[in-house]
Amino acid sequence: MRICVYAGSSMGSRPEYRAAAAALGELLAAEGIGLVYGGGSVGLMGTLANAVLAKGGEVIGVIPEALHAVGVAHDGLSELRVVRTMHERKAAMAELSSAFIALPGGLGTFEEVFEAWTWSQLGVHAKPIACLNTGGFYDKLTQFLDHVVAEDFLKPVHRNVLIVEADPAKLLSAVCRAKIPFVPKWKGLEKA
Ligand code: AMP
Repeated sequence: MRICVYAGSSMGSRPEYRAAAAALGELLAAEGIGLVYGGGSVGLMGTLANAVLAKGGEVIGVIPEALHAVGVAHDGLSELRVVRTMHERKAAMAELSSAFIALPGGLGTFEEVFEAWTWSQLGVHAKPIACLNTGGFYDKLTQFLDHVVAEDFLKPVHRNVLIVEADPAKLLSAVCRAKIPFVPKWKGLEKA
């Protein structure tokens, strides 16, 4: 089994973000779960990959040529795949993995996890999706998502696919147990 983890290319302002990335990496290695990630050596991405590697785990990085060229790729991974575009990268990361986890991060992290989640509600895959809510980092996002449900732009069944958990071990266990229902997004949509 492999899990795709999206994570900030920055470290964030609080030491607990690094600690959480390292803890998740160690857990993945201990459970024999391979890591698939964006292939960077920087920020929480690099911390996560180093933690898995230090415990003897498998890490596959998938990086687009443009980012590889600027020298931010990790040079000690089990495997580094250099692909042409960001779209190819995200497709390869998804194909290689049976679940998705987002650590704290910025726009790149949000874009990647939202794309994986969008594919889930369209039935492209039925893989669990989770956010590691270190220090309540994702609290405001989950509040906003509840607002989106209340305003009838998101079905509760799709909202509930997202696992949000602050403890890395509990998060990983929830991801490994999750069963994802497929309810077509297009059912019940009103014609204009
Ligand atoms: P961000 O959350 O904006 O820092 O972006 C992190 C996400 O975007 C990661 O999951 C990567 O897939 C991708 N990414 C952004 N910056 C880099 C980088 N310097 N090296 C590799 N991947 C990156």
